[in-house]
Parts: sequence; structure tokens; C-alpha cells
Amino acid sequence: MSVTPDLAPPTDLDVLATDDSTPAARSLSPSRAADFLTCPLLYRFRVIDRFPEAPSPAATRGTVVHSVLERLFDLPAGGRTLDAARSMVAPQWAELLEAEPELAGLLDDGDLETDDLPSFLVDADALLARYFALENPQRLEPAERELRVEVELESGLVLRGFVDRLDVAPTGEMRVVDYKTGRAPSPGFESKAMFQMRFYALVLWRLYGRVPRLLQLLYLGSGETLTYEPDEADLRGTQVKVQAIWEAIARATESGDWRASPSKLCDWCDHKARCPEWGGVLPPLPAPAPVAEQGSEPGSVPGQP
Ligand code: SF4
Repeated sequence: MSVTPDLAPPTDLDVLATDDSTPAARSLSPSRAADFLTCPLLYRFRVIDRFPEAPSPAATRGTVVHSVLERLFDLPAGGRTLDAARSMVAPQWAELLEAEPELAGLLDDGDLETDDLPSFLVDADALLARYFALENPQRLEPAERELRVEVELESGLVLRGFVDRLDVAPTGEMRVVDYKTGRAPSPGFESKAMFQMRFYALVLWRLYGRVPRLLQLLYLGSGETLTYEPDEADLRGTQVKVQAIWEAIARATESGDWRASPSKLCDWCDHKARCPEWGGVLPPLPAPAPVAEQGSEPGSVPGQP
């Protein structure tokens, strides 16, 4: 691992006690970091309270499409066609449904009366078609797919997540690829969208000692690509930012002050009914003091958009 001397770890976070004897697990994924930045109370509901969230058609469709794009590269190069990808949607959905039977709740009456794909998966065809318009998978041989990455910083904070695809050139240059089943961000919001990729680039840099050459987001909802070429200064800055987010999480953990930050995203929040900003009653924090552990939290799973 490459150690950067000017990134001295803060020592006051080395032990974030959950009780008198047990140091808290200290790990952060880009999804949960983004949650905290969006709304600290949302982070609390997801990570501290661990309230369940209802599966959504969009997220489930995204998981199925991610699975198809992962498995597509199991085929010999010549077999990686759009038709082949489309034919994988039904079996990937069946596999997911078997693993998570509660997803049957997404099916409507019409879906139950036919063996066809459920209505919320019909759009998967268009998403895959846009993928093939952006890339030719017959010309790619990914080094890794759904790669679980994890690295511990000098502060003890563990960064982790799943990289959709890692391409490595014969020269050793790395390209980090992530599929998004939504639309590309509006102008001015690209940097926020790229935070997740910088986070992964930081982890890969610290693991392998090489800065990834290219970060690439493929938006299958709109058929657009967002790319960024990071450098060491970027990734040092990302590390400082990630560490600062963690310090803010640690302060909220200690104080119990998880501020709500309402925005238009509240319309999609599963916890609106219990959110004081929307007339809900804030439930008491679980006892004993919470373990701020992000490793198994919702969203930190392969294939989530
Ligand atoms: S409803 Fe809005 S303010 Fe409340 S927890 Fe959810 S995202 Fe935060």
C-alpha cells in the first residue's frame, strides 16, 4: 500500500467507543457517505437504526441489469450480443427473486397472470440497448467485475465498496467503470456524481499504489458517459473529504444529534413518516450506543445503482 506522509491521520478518532470496552467498527462506503451528506438523519435511519426499506422497482431493475452486465462477460467475446444480454434478464430476475422472495411484492396482478417479464422489468431492454450503443463488450476483457474493494487508512477508517468493473490495460493502466441505470446528472452536478468514483479510485490507489487512469460512469437511462481522469492531488483531496465526513459522523454518533436536511429527495425517502420534518415522531436511538458500521448496510451490495 502506498502511504502518503502528508495525510497524517487524526488520532482522536482512533477509538470511537460503542461501550466501555469495544472499539466501534469504522468503515464507510460511498453510498453511506453520500447519505450523510444528503441528510444526516437519513444516515441514522439507515445505519444506526437499520430500519428496513421497501424494495423499489427502479432499484430492483438496476440490480437485474447490473447482474446481466456482469454475467455477459462470462460468455466468449463473440457471444456478447444485445440479444444474448436480453435473454439473460429473465434468468437473472428469477435468481434474484429466489434469493430475495420479498421482491414478489413488486409484482402486480397482471404480472401474476403471465409468465412474461414483470412490467417493471420491461425497460431493461432499453437500458441494455443503450449500453451496447455506448460500448462494444466484444472488444473488452474486464480484469474484475463486481470487485469488492476495501482499504484501511492510517486513521483506522476502513473504506469499502463494490466496483462494477475494472479494466486493466497491458501497460497496467486502470479504468474504473460504473453502470448507472438512471439518467446522467444535469450540468453542474457532475462532480457530485463523480464522488463515488473518486472514492473507489482512492481505495484502488491505496491498495495498488497506482492512480487509476480513467473513471467512467455509463448512464444507461440516457445513453451518456461521464469520464474523469484523476491525479494524486485529487485523491489526496478525496481522502481529506472522506475523513472529514467520517469525523462529522463520529460527532453525530457521540452527540446523538442527527440533523434532518429536507430536500426534494424526501419524496423518495422511505422514512418520511417518522421524520420530524414531515410531522413524524423521531424514534429514540437504539441502545446501547450504536456501532457506526457501514459494511453490511443497505446499499453496500453489488449491483445497486
Ligand atoms: S424525509 Fe427528508 S429530511 Fe427526513 S430523513 Fe428522509 S431525506 Fe431526511
